[in-house]
Amino acid sequence: MTRTAVLLFTRDLRVHDNPALAAACRDADRVVPLYVDDPARASNPNQRRFLLESLADLRRSLRDLGGDLVLRAGDTAEQVAAVRKETGADLVVCASDAGRFAAATLERLGEDVHVTPGPAVVEPGRLLPSGGGDHYKVFTPYWRAWSQVRWRPTASEPDGLRVPDLPDSHDLAPAEPTATDLPPGGERAGLARLDAWAPGSGDYGERHDDLAGDRTSRLSPYLALGCLSARAVAEDPRVSEDFVRQMCWRDFHLQVLAAFPALTDTPYRKGADDTWDADLTALEAWRTATTGVGIVDAGMRQLHAEGWMHNRARLITAGYLVKTLGLDWREGAAHFAEHLVDLDEANNWGNWQWTAGTGNDTRPNRGFNHERQAGRFDPEGAYRDRWSRA
Ligand code: FAD
Repeated sequence: MTRTAVLLFTRDLRVHDNPALAAACRDADRVVPLYVDDPARASNPNQRRFLLESLADLRRSLRDLGGDLVLRAGDTAEQVAAVRKETGADLVVCASDAGRFAAATLERLGEDVHVTPGPAVVEPGRLLPSGGGDHYKVFTPYWRAWSQVRWRPTASEPDGLRVPDLPDSHDLAPAEPTATDLPPGGERAGLARLDAWAPGSGDYGERHDDLAGDRTSRLSPYLALGCLSARAVAEDPRVSEDFVRQMCWRDFHLQVLAAFPALTDTPYRKGADDTWDADLTALEAWRTATTGVGIVDAGMRQLHAEGWMHNRARLITAGYLVKTLGLDWREGAAHFAEHLVDLDEANNWGNWQWTAGTGNDTRPNRGFNHERQAGRFDPEGAYRDRWSRA
């Protein structure tokens, strides 16, 4: 009997090392590649531009393999059900993911869905702390366990794709980005970025906090939508252990989100002080890069221009909002979420809670001094100069 599988792409917009694609090709004779543009999925105009480019790139790759990509707009579960009916598919394959949207969608897709490994290097729930609990709450022991466990094998890339008569695609709404200097989306662009950056990345450990040096990989938008496989990047022989350790933070936050889906609006740490001021003028100044604090305004200008901000600047701007101004981390996270081309639920809200002291920081009450941070990580003021104007 011929088996037909709907292969639902989500945050795995690539053909290399894609477990869902490999499983669909292995378990079915014919595959219906599908992406559903679901308005319930958190995103923003900058990430949308990147997403549309990534989908175009994926479609090209699937066409090269003899297939295509069906694009639909609407509720994911409803669209999957419709495409299933239209193609007579007997199987749905998609990657796992964490967070309220992903969990609710997976549940609504029903029990007969084949769920494959998702965006993490090590799947959430696979590593459990020896002292008990369903996830790690502290990074260092997680990193120790993570770096010792065997990672999943590479998913094989198909050399061809057999598709049935495919249903029509919907036109997806165009993107109207707010940032002017966005990276190109897609698997090809991601692999090119990795190839350009990795060979010279030996000084990542010493220089990744150098704001003006801009020495980090800038792979985050590609990792957020799965244009790159996190496992393949972490296993790349050209990258250093310091870099791999940073990648591990991504898995750490994802396993926290999987265990605590309310991370986006509820303090993670029981008993955390979650009272904040409501100074709307100060909040607006922070949002519009007009606080008068050079290092903070520089970071916010980079965010608005590139839809991306250096990690150290994210820590400084976030620390200034929550610890210096005493304003609510939810407001800061929401503003970042409106602009970040690499928006990732676990990383954005996990890091905001970490900074606010309501999350996984083992020293939640530590102070924060933006002048000291500026002196240490932008000693010549070159980052502030670069972003001194909007
Ligand atoms: P590199 O230094 O080259 O690191 C490689 C990869 O490791 C990154 O692409 C990312 O996937 C992962 N990584 C690095 N640092 C972290 C970290 N602290 N936490 C989790 N993963 C990490 N990252 C996002 O991808 N999306 C977000 O929405 C996001 N929001 C953030 C909000 C705040 C307040 C803070 C402090 C950090 C946030 N980060 C977020 C984490 C980090 O700032 C970015 O991943 C990093 O700046 C991306 O640049 P890069 O790819 O050059 O990083």
